[in-house]
Amino acid sequence: TGTLMQGKRGVIMGVANDRSIAWGIARAVAAQGGEIAFTYQGEALEKRVKPLAESVGSSLVLPCDVADDASMDAAFDAVAKAWGKIDFLVHAIGYADKQYLRGRYLDTPRAAFLQAMDISCFSFVAVGQRAAALMEAGGSLLTLSYLGAERVTPHYNVMGVAKAALEASVRYMATDLGERGIRVNAISAGPIKTLAASGIGDFRYILKWNQYNSPLRRNVTIEEVGGSGLYLLSDLAAGVTGEVHHVDSGYHIVGMKNPDAPDI
Ligand code: NAD
Repeated sequence: TGTLMQGKRGVIMGVANDRSIAWGIARAVAAQGGEIAFTYQGEALEKRVKPLAESVGSSLVLPCDVADDASMDAAFDAVAKAWGKIDFLVHAIGYADKQYLRGRYLDTPRAAFLQAMDISCFSFVAVGQRAAALMEAGGSLLTLSYLGAERVTPHYNVMGVAKAALEASVRYMATDLGERGIRVNAISAGPIKTLAASGIGDFRYILKWNQYNSPLRRNVTIEEVGGSGLYLLSDLAAGVTGEVHHVDSGYHIVGMKNPDAPDI
């Protein structure tokens, strides 16, 4: 524990359970004295998120469906009413119909494409608008991406295209908000077994591949993503914006398979 986030308040979106990346970030922020408002997608998740929130001293737990403008308005109105201003926002939300997270990208229908873009990319813009309006003395916005945005990774398909758009959004939002001292960054996380990841075809193979071929020869944890998230949200990263920071055991630098890797 420490004091890096003492006096800072913010919203963390995307906790579904205690394996969520958002939860790893929340724990790191809370351990440094940050105050957190949590949002969850739907009623089914409320009973999971409430006790987690309570365990880090948070009583502000709000429903927020990012597909719905009124729901986002209500959540941020409630935060504004409780706190007036905020200092940080974590957007750890993504979705694509899992039917299209296998097979060929070329076969993606329009509706699945638009939904993946809406929930996984535009929603960061939408919540960024609302969060920035509550940031008076600067702030930090953080989202989560994946290597499939930069290169072809098996089965990631339409999600990779949405993450590419999300990473471009990070750069444009960083430019729009820079003058106000609001920083905008992404963490490109290595594969982690979460609810969202279970929708991706052959995810076990992807985990093994990264374990055998990344420089650190292992996968990352939500605690490690939490630590790097904490850095980007805190004043330690006061000079950092528009960045896509890889927290992936170094896998993104690898050009060829590790010749000593066992068969998967
Ligand atoms: P997760 O399933 O724990 O979290 C995904 C969250 O998105 C859930 O809380 C879900 O409720 C929320 N969500 C989906 N649709 C929503 C909507 N319409 N409104 C509000 N919330 C909605 O899985 P995770 O892996 O922790 O995912 C968090 C982020 O990290 C996602 O953006 C994901 O793409 C990204 N990411 C994950 C991995 C990985 O391997 N797990 C790697 C890199 C990036």
